[in-house]
Order: sequence, then C-alpha cells, then structure tokens
Amino acid sequence: MSLPQISYVIPLYNENKAFPFLIDRLNEVMNKSDIDIEVVLVDDGSKDTTADLMQQLALQDQRYQCVFLSRNYGHQIALSAGLSVVNATEAVMVMDGDLQDPPELFFDFYNYYKQGYDVVYAIRKKRKESILKKAAYSIFYRMLKKISYIEIPIDSGDFSLMSRRVVDILNKMPEESRYIRGMRSWVGFKQIGIEYERRGRTADESKYSISMLFRLAFNGIFNFSEFPIRFITRMGLVAITLSLIYLAITIIKKAVWGTVPEGFTALLFAIILFSGVQLISLGVIGEYVLRIFHQVKSRPLFIIKDQIINKQYVQRKERSSSSLP
Ligand code: UDP
Ligand code: MG
Repeated sequence: MSLPQISYVIPLYNENKAFPFLIDRLNEVMNKSDIDIEVVLVDDGSKDTTADLMQQLALQDQRYQCVFLSRNYGHQIALSAGLSVVNATEAVMVMDGDLQDPPELFFDFYNYYKQGYDVVYAIRKKRKESILKKAAYSIFYRMLKKISYIEIPIDSGDFSLMSRRVVDILNKMPEESRYIRGMRSWVGFKQIGIEYERRGRTADESKYSISMLFRLAFNGIFNFSEFPIRFITRMGLVAITLSLIYLAITIIKKAVWGTVPEGFTALLFAIILFSGVQLISLGVIGEYVLRIFHQVKSRPLFIIKDQIINKQYVQRKERSSSSLP
C-alpha cells in the first residue's frame, strides 16, 4: 500500500458525543478530495466509549489509524503521540476532535502548502466562548508575545498544517513540557497564518479544565520566556539601588541636620541591601536550575498501549522494561 500524502492528527478525550459528527465531516472531506488522506485518531485515555468507537471504525476503514495511550496524558502529549506515528509524505493536519476547528479548512491550508509554506496555522478571528474566557485568552496571548524570546503568533492554537519535515523536527524535540504552538514557531521555515472563525463546541463541554488551561499557559511562559527569572534579578537590582539611595539620604540628613538615629538606619540599610543580594542570587541559581530541569528529564513522553494500523489491531507487548537502570 502506498503512503498517504496527508495525515490528520486528532487527539480525543471523552469525545463520544462529538465522534459521529467528526467522522461524518472527515469522510466528507476525504470523499471530496482526490488527495490521499489518512486520519490518525489518538485516544488520550478516555473514560467513555471513545476508544470503542475508534476501534470499530478503524477495523473497518483503512483510512483511519488509531493510537491508544496507556492513560490520560493531556492534549499536547496526545498530539505528540499522534505526530510520532503519521505516515504522511507531504504534510500533517493538526486538529481538535470537537469540531471547533472545521476540517474543511484543510483545502485552504493545502493551497498555501503547495505555494511553499511549511507551516500554515489558523488565527482565531472570533471565539464563541464566555466573555471571561475570551478576555483571559486575549491577555495571555498578548503577554506571552511580549515576554517570549521567539515570535509566537497571537490567537493561534494548534490547528495547523505542517510539512513532513517540520513534523520530523518536532518529533525529534525531546522537551517534556510541550507547548506545540510555540515549538512550531521555534522551528522556523516559511509560516503563514490564516484567519478563521472558531466555532463553539458541537457537543459537550470543554475537556480542558481551568487547571489544565493554566498548566498549558505556564508551559507557554516557562518554555518560551526567560522573563520571570530575569525579573527576580531585576527586582534584586532595584532593591539594592533603593537601599543605596536611602543610605545617601540618611548620610546627607545626618551631615546637615544631625537628626538620624544611628543604629536603626544601619539596620534598615543592611536588611534592604541583603534582601536585594538574596533575590539576585536566587535569580542566578534559578537560571541554572531551569536549564538543568529542562535537560535532565528523559522519560518517554507517552506510552502507546495499543494501535490499529491498516485495520490490524496491534497490542503493545513488553514483558519487562529493561531500560530502567
Ligand atoms: N483532549 C485530549 N486530552 C485531554 C484534554 C483534551 O486529548 O486531556 C482533546 C479533546 O478531546 C479535544 C482537544 O484535545 O479534541 C481539545 O480539547 P478541548 O476542546 O477540551 O479544548 P478547548 O477547545 O476548550 O481549548
Ligand atoms: Mg475545543
């Protein structure tokens, strides 16, 4: 069998309500186009019937491939798992399973790909979410853009088409706390954003809890910005400067009016000065800890429990893990 030109990667967590709609829309896209497309569905340890639905489908329809993860790893890792098994020769389409991202946008993306773009990402023009959530997203993306050391486009999520070579590079990036839209920007190449209107969810509520959203946001900040740690150092510098100014003022006061109680001033000065020094030291240590932290973890990102490849069910077989020290 020849390899498909395009792979869709779709992570799913408890999406049994949206599933039939999703598959309808995907079938429509595949039937309409003469491009050879496969769909890689990733079950991120769903607790509902999502995995069963996936299995039923993929055992009948060769265009669907399935990956079942050993537990719930979270959206970004599930996405990475999907990216690691795609067969696409040309490009990979990354999409959510709740139909907030219209699968038909692929045709527009693909046109840009054909024009030589390695990454075509979607920019959300409008969001159908609550005002509070919209405001939080908007503030976060703008802040991240300000403090990040790479150019991360505003209001773009993971919904995108990436060329095979970009996906190969992402697959080789070993970082554990993954922020795919940031890594995608980091890779470089020719990239372009297209505006689209993000729908509300078709079925069900969001599978991202508030704490998961925060974790994602933190991954964005701490993986792509050195601002927080540099901020500590700067605070230390400010504290030291203030203490020196205070010292100068007291000395002048003492010389002119002779009114300053001595012991108290010295104490205050020492406290402020050394708090400044401590903050700077923390910042410097933090710099090293951060780098070690990012480097040292070399756990596998995810564990694939089972897979369905070309209608064949493949179970993970491993009696003992010999790689542990
Ligand atoms: N998802 C996942 N693992 C999780 C949470 C979510 O694979 O732990 C999937 C989910 O099924 C959906 C996509 O990630 O296909 C985006 O999730 P969701 O729609 O809940 O996020 P939101 O659109 O609210 O940001
Ligand atoms: Mg969604």
